[in-house]
Amino acid sequence: MKKTILVIEDNPLNMKLVRVLLGLAECAVLEATDAERGIGMARERKPDLILMDVQLPGMDGLEATRVIRREEAGTGGHTPIVAMTAHAMEEDRKLCMDAGMDDYVSKPIQAGLLRAVIDRHTGRNGRGNDDSEEIGTKDTPGREVFDREELLDALGGDNKCLTELVNSFIDDVSVQTGELQRALGETQMNEAVALAHRLKGAAANMRAKSMSMLFSNIEQAATRRDQEQAARLLEDVEEAFQVFRRVFSAGDQ
Ligand code: MN
Repeated sequence: MKKTILVIEDNPLNMKLVRVLLGLAECAVLEATDAERGIGMARERKPDLILMDVQLPGMDGLEATRVIRREEAGTGGHTPIVAMTAHAMEEDRKLCMDAGMDDYVSKPIQAGLLRAVIDRHTGRNGRGNDDSEEIGTKDTPGREVFDREELLDALGGDNKCLTELVNSFIDDVSVQTGELQRALGETQMNEAVALAHRLKGAAANMRAKSMSMLFSNIEQAATRRDQEQAARLLEDVEEAFQVFRRVFSAGDQ
């Protein structure tokens, strides 16, 4: 029977990626972009499993989990909740478990891992797991810029989907780096931190490692209120972004 998965995620690109992966796993998808809506949907639609982003605007994923578990304590039942987070630290994992989550997948999300976690918690037996994830050890030049192979793997080999995702990433980066430049220019450092953080995650999703690293450094500089350094790094982003687009379209022929 088709499983219904509720995804609570505020980043549209992450949502899109998860939607594609769940489609490949033949699951039905419910979507919520904040905790309040997600809790309401969990209550009304009774999904088989919830994929919960940890960092959400307003109420975060940990608190949302506590709310759902409190309600379940009154009504009975237990919906598996799986955290999606960029932090792979043991203590983060513990925070998620303490809040009442059942499991944990780290971003960027791998198709094989996601399927395994769904199977584990919804009692569905694995169907042809031909895309169990492999840790890349090969060091091909260009992989730092854009690891097409790894992304393709994560997408279960769907080239069309890869092109679509990367194209929306390119649009997104163009808009958001403009925003980041403006935020830095206006010394809106909190906004700059948030934008750099989001871009870092989006680039990691696309396996654009060099760009992700640069955004991570911008995030850190902006956190230190080092506006000059952040602005310098943003110039490097321009260049890295051009290289990324070149590598992407060379592989997309
Ligand atoms: Mn988030």
